Amino acid sequence: MKIAIWGTKKEAIYLYNQIKSDGKNRVVCFVDNNKNICDPLIDNKPIYSIDKLKKMYPDQIDTVILALRNGYSIACILKQLKYSNIKNIGLLKPLAYDYNEKICLEENNAHVIWTNMLRMPILPYLQVVLIKTCNLNCKGCTHFANLFNKRLDNDNTYPIQKLKEDLRKVSENMEIFRLRLLGGEPLLYPELKEAIASSRECFPNADIRVVTNGLLLMKASEELFQCLNHYNIGLDISLYQPTMRIKQELVNLLQRNSVKYHFEGMSNTEGIERFEKNIRTEGVNNPEKAMSICHGKQCLTLLHGRLYKCPFEALSYKFYQYFNQNIDYRNDGYNINKDTIDWTDFLDKVYMCPVEACKHCSEKIEFFDWSTTCSPEYSDWTV
Ligand code: SF4
Ligand code: SF4
Repeated sequence: MKIAIWGTKKEAIYLYNQIKSDGKNRVVCFVDNNKNICDPLIDNKPIYSIDKLKKMYPDQIDTVILALRNGYSIACILKQLKYSNIKNIGLLKPLAYDYNEKICLEENNAHVIWTNMLRMPILPYLQVVLIKTCNLNCKGCTHFANLFNKRLDNDNTYPIQKLKEDLRKVSENMEIFRLRLLGGEPLLYPELKEAIASSRECFPNADIRVVTNGLLLMKASEELFQCLNHYNIGLDISLYQPTMRIKQELVNLLQRNSVKYHFEGMSNTEGIERFEKNIRTEGVNNPEKAMSICHGKQCLTLLHGRLYKCPFEALSYKFYQYFNQNIDYRNDGYNINKDTIDWTDFLDKVYMCPVEACKHCSEKIEFFDWSTTCSPEYSDWTV
C-alpha cells in the first residue's frame, strides 16, 4: 500500500502514527483542500492538494484514507475522488481515535471502511431523533428540546416499530459511516436498548454512538451498559456545565462498566461554553450563502420516516408553533417509504443543494454563553 491520508488534524496524525508504527513506511503524504495550511510538512511528509494527488495516482499513491468526521466534508471529498477515478478509498472511523484503539488496516471495516468493498453507496453521517424532549433546558437548543419540554406533543417519541422499519429501509439502500442516536435526551427514550440493537443490526459497519448530556447516566441500568457493549456502541457525552461537575464520577462509572465513551466540548475549551444562533424568520436570506456557512448542513436527520437535511428542517415547526407563526417544513424531508425515492439522486443532492428552510437561516451567526432557561424567548434563536 502507498497511502495518502486525507486530513491534517488529530485523527489524521493518530492514523499516521499507527500506520508508521509497523515500520513499513506506507504513508506517502497527507492531503488537504485547505490552501492556507502554513506548515507544508507533517513529520517530513508533504501535504498535497487533490490535483497533486490525482497526478500521483496510481503509481506513487494507490490508497487514500479520509481521517475526517464532518459528514459534509466527507461527502464533498468522496465526490471529488469519484470524478478523479481514485478507487481504493478508506474512511477512518472516529472511534479509533476516540477510544485510542490500535488500528488494523487489513481487518475489514473494524477501523476503516473501504468504500470499494461496499454493496451500496455510503452516507457519511446520519442522526436519528429518538425523542424530542430533554432533561435540560438549554437556551437556544438547536433541536428546540426546551420548547418540546414545555408543550408536549403526541409525537414526541419515534415509535420503536416505526424506527426499526425506517432503519431497515435506509439500510436496504445505503451504508452509513457515522450513525448517532440522539434527542432531546436519548436516555429518556423508553426503548433505547431496542433502538441500539436495531441500529447495529441494520448497520454492522457503522461507527454508532448514543449522544447524551450524561446527566441520567448515573441512574442508568446495568442492562443499558451491557447492551451498549454487546452492540459495540459508544457514548458521546456533551460537556455542559452540569455534566462537567460530575465528569469524574461518569468516568469512574463508565470505566467500571467497560463502556466506550467520548466527551465532547468545544475545539478550544474542554466544556461547551457557547451556543450559536442564526435564525431569521423573515425568510429573506440567500439559501446558498446561509448553507455555505452553517454547521447544520452536515447533520442529516432521520425522523418519523423522513430524511431531513438538518434538524432545523425537521424540528423548527415547534419553534414557529410556539411563537405563533405558521411555518412548517416537516413535509419537505425525503419520504423514505415512497417507492419513487431515487437514492442515488438523494445522495447527490442532499449535501450539495440548499432546501427551502435555508432561507430562514442567516448568513450571520451569533454566539452567546451557554445557559439554561425556563422562559424561552424568540430572541434565544434569532439574529
Ligand atoms: S442537552 Fe442538548 S438536547 Fe437537551 S436542551 Fe441542551 S442542547 Fe437541547
Ligand atoms: S436549514 Fe439550511 S442553512 Fe439552515 S441549518 Fe439547515 S442546512 Fe443550514
